[in-house]
Amino acid sequence: MKKSNAKNAKRYRDRTKELVFNYYGNDNPKCVTCNENELSKLTIGHINDDGSEDRKKTGMGSNFYTWLKLNNFPNNGYEISCFSCNCGKRIGDVKKKEYFVTSNSLISSFKLMS
Ligand SMILES: [Zn+2]
Repeated sequence: MKKSNAKNAKRYRDRTKELVFNYYGNDNPKCVTCNENELSKLTIGHINDDGSEDRKKTGMGSNFYTWLKLNNFPNNGYEISCFSCNCGKRIGDVKKKEYFVTSNSLISSFKLMS
C-alpha cells in the first residue's frame, strides 16, 4: 500500500516537472546555453540569478515545480538550463569571489611592504 503511494507521488512529481518544462521551453525544453534536452538533466534557473531569496518561499526541486504550477507559471525571469551549465554559472561566481579576495590580500600585503 505504502509502496504504491510512493509510486503515485513520483508519477505526480514527474508529470508536474514535465508540465513546467514544456511551459518554459515552449513544448521543446532544452538548456538555453548548450541545448541539452534530456529532461532528467535539466533544471529551472533564474535569469538574474537572484534565486536565493526566491528559493526560500518556493522550495527547491519538485517543491519548486509544484510551486510554479500552483502559481500559474509566473513569467518573471525563469529559464531552463542543464545542471552542468547551472553549476558552471555558480562555480564562475565562486572563482570571481576567490580572485577578489586574492587580489585584495595582494594589495594589502603590498601596502605592508611599502
Ligand atoms: Zn547546458
